[in-house]
Amino acid sequence: MLIVMGAHATAADVERVCKKIEELGFKPHAMPGASRTAIGLTGNPGPVEAGYFENMPGVVELIQVTHPYKLVSRELKPDNTEFTVGDVLIGGTEIVVIAGPCAVESEEQTLRIAEKVRAFGAHIYRGGAFKPRTSPYSFHGLGLSGLKILAKAREYTGMPIVTEAIDHESLQMVEEYADIIQIGARNMQNFSLLRSAGKARKPVLLKRGMSATLDDFLLAAEYIMAEGNYQVILCERGIRTFADHTRNTLDLSIVPAVKRISHLPIFVDPSHGTGKRHKVAPMSRAAIAVGADGLIIEVHDQPENALSDGPQALLPETFGQLMDEIQMLAPVVKRTVTRKDGVRHN
Ligand code: PEP
Ligand code: MN
Repeated sequence: MLIVMGAHATAADVERVCKKIEELGFKPHAMPGASRTAIGLTGNPGPVEAGYFENMPGVVELIQVTHPYKLVSRELKPDNTEFTVGDVLIGGTEIVVIAGPCAVESEEQTLRIAEKVRAFGAHIYRGGAFKPRTSPYSFHGLGLSGLKILAKAREYTGMPIVTEAIDHESLQMVEEYADIIQIGARNMQNFSLLRSAGKARKPVLLKRGMSATLDDFLLAAEYIMAEGNYQVILCERGIRTFADHTRNTLDLSIVPAVKRISHLPIFVDPSHGTGKRHKVAPMSRAAIAVGADGLIIEVHDQPENALSDGPQALLPETFGQLMDEIQMLAPVVKRTVTRKDGVRHN
């Protein structure tokens, strides 16, 4: 159930409704919006009696939710979700670009590439310290020492850091060191990990599972939000199909589909989505055209020596050209790209 509070409702009215929900043994989720606050109610095994709330001060409408997700839905929150990570606003009119190598390989490599992507205008830096790999014999990341290197890259460039947590143990470490916790495609339906990410106090970048439907994807985000973490970024990264000209099939149609029913920001990862360097820029441009709120792009200055995903990494200069292109494209869809040029040496 959603409880919609009128524009005139006071903070005390909202508080009273939240208390009532708790007394009934359920969990309240107050979502302030531009024109009204809606309060989502979760933890109820079946429909909740409207009589508990309909006459409470400030309540104007009770909505029984028809789909399986509640908190991710625009019914609860008509306005887009926006939040800041460091000095970067996510979900606003500015398009946000995350860039960096697939994996943290060494301090030297990480700082070198960070400086380059920052100079070409990236907003947030990426790099995996815990790598989920198909083969047990591949490079699995530097772990905690990789996180420490990423923290140095943040200090060096001023860019916030996003990096993946692959299990409960790494989640605790990632929460401590990074600015955004990434949950990868392979873990999109690891429900206990989603619940833990929901208890974390950092925003979560949730990648779409390789065979996840729109409902599966939104329900995964719902797990995180149901635990009280409302700062979720969805990320389309390609799905498995029969097509073999790309690593995955980048399903850009999910962007408008998400926008229609959810207030959450959605980013696109054309690197994992295509797996091929020459397809990354065209699909990035397409992602902007279709309404993505941001991009996450793998960049490496020595892709032939990269320990993972070299074939899909853009060279820094190509990344710079792509930034030029999306800067020109963005106004067509009433967006902007403000480049963070120049390295800040703290
Ligand atoms: C990644 O971004 O490094 C990654 C492993 O992505 P995905 O989970 O989408 O495969
Ligand atoms: Mn990768």
